[in-house]
Amino acid sequence: MSGEAQQPTELHVRHREADPSRDLDYPPLPEALTVSVYDNHTHLEISDGTPGSELDYREHLDRASSVGVKGVVQVGGDLVTSRWSADIAAREPRVLAAVALHPNETPEFAASGTLDQAIAEIDALAAQPRVRAIGETGLDFFRTGEDGRDAQFRAFEAHISLAKNHNIALQIHDRDAHDAVIDTLLRVGAPERTVFHCFSGDVEMARFCADQGWYLSFAGTVTFKNAHNLREALAVIPRDRILVETDAPFLTPHPYRGRPNSPYLIPTTLRAMAAHLETDVHMLAAQVSSNTEEVYGLWDEDLPDIVESMDRPA
Ligand SMILES: [Zn+2]
Ligand SMILES: [Zn+2]
Repeated sequence: MSGEAQQPTELHVRHREADPSRDLDYPPLPEALTVSVYDNHTHLEISDGTPGSELDYREHLDRASSVGVKGVVQVGGDLVTSRWSADIAAREPRVLAAVALHPNETPEFAASGTLDQAIAEIDALAAQPRVRAIGETGLDFFRTGEDGRDAQFRAFEAHISLAKNHNIALQIHDRDAHDAVIDTLLRVGAPERTVFHCFSGDVEMARFCADQGWYLSFAGTVTFKNAHNLREALAVIPRDRILVETDAPFLTPHPYRGRPNSPYLIPTTLRAMAAHLETDVHMLAAQVSSNTEEVYGLWDEDLPDIVESMDRPA
């Protein structure tokens, strides 16, 4: 054997901010799906849960497998988490990666004059075969004020180009910025496979996005009692535009709102979606699974040989 031994990957590179009002217990496992499906947007790099019993990515994936969630797209939002996402995808068959600078991170890069350099690193990561999306990118007018918008627009446009250049999907984060996101996509030209992660628009926007051929990914928010607009949006779009995600550890579906989220809770969200659509959950699972593979390709392609003999982190 020659060369350097592979560095073990850290189990978590971010921690969820403490909120003493939250119940930190992971919800119970839902009934397993018999037609399996994917979680197309999750953040397994963030530790959450009762101190001492936080789940790491392998435990998340094992629980997910046990209830019919066969793979995830692990999403980065800065350089550390994008590198981590690409690294895990390269060694774990159940993981594909998305890499990007989150819109709320971009003003800081711009202020320090490192935005172009950071985007160049995202570009390099995107060349890896198991990095199948640029995301999450987009616009966030909720957490970033006027003074950060210029950086957000610049980075969003650069990320759109990366997705097109690498011919991979684009995962959009859109918070309180529907019109500006759509205008930007139309102005610079959307990638062939464009996904609105955690879709938060209304019926009219859903119809418009679906007409463009864009995908709408529904998170636990679609199960929230007051989210009538999301369920209406779900009902008006063609089934071949629907994706499902957790955005774990956030946005845990009803009735576990506020508790830690994990890809193993996808069946809970999918069942709520199927109930609203008055369709069989396994029919919906088959459709969503095939949509997900259309967008990201197959999980068992481009696996490195290393998977056979990989050293799992201790
Ligand atoms: Zn987001
Ligand atoms: Zn996210």
